[in-house]
Amino acid sequence: MNVGFVGTGTMGAPMLGNLIKKGFAVVAYDISPEALANAEKRGASRAESPADAARRSELVITMLPSSSHVEQAYLDKNGIAEGLRPGRLCVDMSTIDPAVSRRVAQRLAASGVRFIDAPVSGGVPRAEDGTLAIMVGGETRDVEEARPALAAMGANVIHVGGVGSGEVAKLCNNLIAGVSAVAVSEAFRIADGFGVDAKVLTDVIAKSSGNTWVMQFMHPVPGLVAKAASSNDYAPGFMTDLMAKDLGLAVNAARELRVPLFVAPAAQQVLRLASSHGLGRRDFTSVYTFLKPSAGDAPV
Ligand code: NAD
Repeated sequence: MNVGFVGTGTMGAPMLGNLIKKGFAVVAYDISPEALANAEKRGASRAESPADAARRSELVITMLPSSSHVEQAYLDKNGIAEGLRPGRLCVDMSTIDPAVSRRVAQRLAASGVRFIDAPVSGGVPRAEDGTLAIMVGGETRDVEEARPALAAMGANVIHVGGVGSGEVAKLCNNLIAGVSAVAVSEAFRIADGFGVDAKVLTDVIAKSSGNTWVMQFMHPVPGLVAKAASSNDYAPGFMTDLMAKDLGLAVNAARELRVPLFVAPAAQQVLRLASSHGLGRRDFTSVYTFLKPSAGDAPV
């Protein structure tokens, strides 16, 4: 099967690499020449635009940064919608606003094209291994049609509900992960201040009620988890700006629903501040480096 893949960045490149390993032929497009060259290195052929990628494939997958990029790639001039015949299926795997997923789905439905949302969790190591968690929103028939391609990229493909509900599951998950990264960083800064060894503290927490995925697999303190971004100078990984975006999606969703939210907005502001100090394109766990004790005199 020919798959059009639009957005071949940090996550898209390893994901399309797994499609190719499992026998799919991939036609790739990215606005960044460097990202497109990476896709070619993994065995994809090059498309000239999103419309070109769509025209040359039976299934279209997108992996783009945020809502505006998804609307652009599908609906702008030379966008995916221009290259699609009625009956085709599109799978957006980006993390975006569920309302935007529904809007794009409606626009495509007007020309007989089907759309599902299938955001992912697990980060770069699991994208490389093909073991992502994939949460899917859409009609059952469409989800089943996409399942073989999704199974090539992920170990757990979970159908959550109608279009947009995969994104709802994802923003709920990232609310917890984003808050955890700040909480783990704060805890390890306190431990450091008291001279408690980070490795010993990690062993304690791993067996206690504070254990989290972020600490186990994405430890913000360098040198404790070999595959964590912190052990590679915080090269992403998952960029601080993307996590701040995801917490923003959670905050917006809560505002629409009139759900009071305290912790997620606070974590979002910490990440935004880290971004304004140059960490926006570093891994989100670099927030640990930002939460340094202030230099100077003893506290008053
Ligand atoms: P990225 O910025 O590395 O990659 C996105 C790619 O999209 C870039 O190469 C960019 O050039 C391209 N792009 C932007 N607009 C385009 C357009 N109009 N047409 C074609 N290409 C376009 O981001 P990423 O880390 O790969 O993340 C992609 C999505 O996956 C985001 O929504 C992110 O929140 C989500 N996500 C990321 C991770 C992670 O660990 N990096 C984990 C889970 C989910």
